Amino acid sequence: MRLLTIRSLVLFAAISMILSVTMTAQNTTAMNSTTNVSTTDNPLLAKWEGPYGGVPPFDRVQVPLFKPALEAAMAEQLAEIDRIVKNPAAPDFQNTIVALEEVGQTLDRVSTIYGVWGATMAGPEFQAVQREMAPRLAAFNDQITQNEPLFKRIEAVYNSPAKAKLTPEQQRLAWLYYTNFVRAGARLSADAKKRLSEINQKLAGLYTKFSQNVLAEETDQFIVLKSEAELAGLPQSLRDAAAAAAESKKQPGTWVIMNTRSSIDPFLTYSDRRDLREKAWRMFVNRGDNGGEHDNNAIITEILQLRAERAKLLGYPTHAHWRLENSMAKTPERAMALMEAVWKPAAARVQEEVADMQALADKEGAKIKIEPWDYRYYMEKVRKAKYDLDQNEIKPYLQLEKLREGIFWVAGELFNFNFTPVTNVPVAHPDVRVWEVTDKTTKRHIGLWYFDPYARPGKRSGAWMNAYRNQERINGEITTIVSNNSNFVKGKPGEPVLISWDDATTMFHEFGHALHGLNSNVTYPSLSGTAVPRDYVEFPSQLLEHWLATPEVLQRFALHYQTGKPIPQTLVDKINRSATFNEGFETVELLASALVDMKLHLAADKKIDPDAFERETLAQLGMPKEIVMRHRTPQFLHVFSSDGYSAGYYSYLWSDVITADAFGAFVEGKGPYDKSVAERLRKHIFSVGNTVDPADAYRSFRGRDPKIDALMKKKGFTAKS
Ligand SMILES: [Zn+2]
Repeated sequence: MRLLTIRSLVLFAAISMILSVTMTAQNTTAMNSTTNVSTTDNPLLAKWEGPYGGVPPFDRVQVPLFKPALEAAMAEQLAEIDRIVKNPAAPDFQNTIVALEEVGQTLDRVSTIYGVWGATMAGPEFQAVQREMAPRLAAFNDQITQNEPLFKRIEAVYNSPAKAKLTPEQQRLAWLYYTNFVRAGARLSADAKKRLSEINQKLAGLYTKFSQNVLAEETDQFIVLKSEAELAGLPQSLRDAAAAAAESKKQPGTWVIMNTRSSIDPFLTYSDRRDLREKAWRMFVNRGDNGGEHDNNAIITEILQLRAERAKLLGYPTHAHWRLENSMAKTPERAMALMEAVWKPAAARVQEEVADMQALADKEGAKIKIEPWDYRYYMEKVRKAKYDLDQNEIKPYLQLEKLREGIFWVAGELFNFNFTPVTNVPVAHPDVRVWEVTDKTTKRHIGLWYFDPYARPGKRSGAWMNAYRNQERINGEITTIVSNNSNFVKGKPGEPVLISWDDATTMFHEFGHALHGLNSNVTYPSLSGTAVPRDYVEFPSQLLEHWLATPEVLQRFALHYQTGKPIPQTLVDKINRSATFNEGFETVELLASALVDMKLHLAADKKIDPDAFERETLAQLGMPKEIVMRHRTPQFLHVFSSDGYSAGYYSYLWSDVITADAFGAFVEGKGPYDKSVAERLRKHIFSVGNTVDPADAYRSFRGRDPKIDALMKKKGFTAKS
């Protein structure tokens, strides 16, 4: 069993844009059947069959199978737990903790596929199943953590003198179970437990509603462009995408700008029409904040109150204190201190960026004052003027499939991995491809890597990693299955897909999560791979981003799609010179979100009006008026679509500090391909999962705690003394 508290980390850990909840879709496979599936022939309940220790039966999924499968799997897990509780033998590590690790395997399998459908194949029929099952899954989880005799056994093992004889990994697992149960309310009175469970179910329903509201405003609102004049400035690729969007919105002969980040950001970057930029910007930043049936403000107030009440019930001053207890930061105060240290230099940098943009606008005779809807537009112009760098110049060298070969090559250099394509396993969609990962020297099977690169209806936006099965060896070696997912637009047959430098960086990032899973070398599934604290999990992935810009990768894999020639050094120099460009904007938009998130969850049980709170908090911070939060409160899915990143959005910055510091170990050594540093990285970071406290693991790798200096230097900010 992976407890939901642990499991949610695994599921969401690697996700840069969270949400397992909802998505639009035209995908209506298996609609309108009220099939009565008996549990004996529900394929979702069966053990995974086939090669590599079994693989997910994606070819046998039908939406009506999910509910009966989840119900049967929950019932099975409760029966398994009952057997542990009724064991007449005195509780010990084997008959309690290990036994718990082994229960719920059916539910793990079902919910893995349920999660894949939620993220990549979610039609309206599936969304209805989610609305029904979310509160029930929350209640199920409480039923386990509130099982008193079960907790007594865990507590007995945890407090037993025999614990000292266990291995460090076993002791940590016992601690994790104990602390997770306590944190979930195992010690509360019966009345308090009942109230806690009510709160959790209520929250699960509110999270689903919050997500579905954001989705509705992203789907229902869009901008229709009707003439050449309204397309001014847009490159051909954007016009093509807008024309395709118009088809899907049944607006033939027009161009449609959708209300999603991947549609809005490029429009704000390139559109010469200031009036339309303002309109697009307002539409996007007001998602969930428009009054009416999809307004999220009242939902947020309720979520915050319930979270505050729950924290109090559990004995914590605030939700933030509860969430951070087992993180690497440990306390909200430490997370706040980091954010505040970075905020001032970042905000100061924004003033310089705005001054550059204003000067350029004045020189052009634009007669404007830079507003938020001008930022990306003038930023791009400044980039060209200052560094002679045009993003569109880089793209022809960044072919999706060549870069995929590049990440394989890097994994070979750092971790001795080899990738071989396989075609004998089922996939959820024909676009998904699978590779077997083996050790280059010993040929040992390490795991499977699924790659689902293209956008389609029913797939949520963004890029993420997901583990379908965790490495473990309680009863013999179980190998891992991991996947990387993204939303590139599929090219015409035979045409290479060209991607941006940012997208290439994201590819390396997500692959870093996959490598974290593939390197896992632990005994117990709850401690495996990416099941580490939230503010540590982005470290391996952010670290991998550094290898894209190495000459070894660029010369071999950044090849022009027509000439096959590697990217010229002059262009690489320009990219490197502009590395700290726009860091003010990027840091401030992220930090503003992280600070508002933390302050919302430090406000205890004060009744909060989200709009006013956001406005006042940003004013106190001195938020530059030319920038808006990356995720405004009414659309902040990381924070309000689950407990996921609540009081945890700071994690990106926290991991950033560790990442920049860690790469320094390579720089101080023989460079990015230094085999001895790579071996230390594997040994202390990528292979240990959550078997070691992250701060200790890092110290073993680096010989000291992380310092903030490397990050400040990387961002081009003056380091604080
Ligand atoms: Zn990530």
